[in-house]
Amino acid sequence: MLNIVLFGPPGAGKGTQSERLIEKFGLVHLSTGDIFRSNIKGETELGKLAKSYMNQGKLVPDSVTIDLLRSEVLKYNAPKGFIFDGFPRTNAQADALDVFLASINTSITVMLSLDVEEDELKRRLLKRAEVSGRADDADPKIIDNRIAVYHNETAPVKSFYENQGKLISVEGMGSVDEITKRLFLSIDTI
Ligand code: AMP
Repeated sequence: MLNIVLFGPPGAGKGTQSERLIEKFGLVHLSTGDIFRSNIKGETELGKLAKSYMNQGKLVPDSVTIDLLRSEVLKYNAPKGFIFDGFPRTNAQADALDVFLASINTSITVMLSLDVEEDELKRRLLKRAEVSGRADDADPKIIDNRIAVYHNETAPVKSFYENQGKLISVEGMGSVDEITKRLFLSIDTI
């Protein structure tokens, strides 16, 4: 299996690039953010809980997120692999993912980490808000919170995979096509 963690701060282009990677490699796309948003739309209990955190730019608690991720992975029968987009976002999630994947006889192949300058992130998020309707993209205060949470809680996950020799950093500035090319080339080196 080819199991990719697509990593980067909010606005790095994880969702957009996931679509390209799925098309090329036939992978299953698992975005915890997308799953939370569809639960919010469906007004489920999980949606209500997730919304109370997401609207403040905070992380949904690990226990909830990890349980959700496990049950999503188990929905697929003999997939070619997964793209984990927006997960893991804490070291506890990364640990739990390793243990869970081992229990189903697989593992993370690589973390592809998109590097994007902070001004560009904010610009992209505000632009996305015009079409996404996402409350957490439209409010500069929430954006700042999300970026702070990224630095404090999520960025350490990079070292988690670096210590396993699985980290590849990819320049995330430039056009969507240029970034896709860099990601494909990185996967070729695995
Ligand atoms: P995203 O669509 O990946 O930008 O995620 C939007 C929001 O969903 C985040 O700001 C968090 O509030 C929540 N979220 C998504 N993935 C996770 C995760 N792995 N752990 C905790 N919260 C998450």
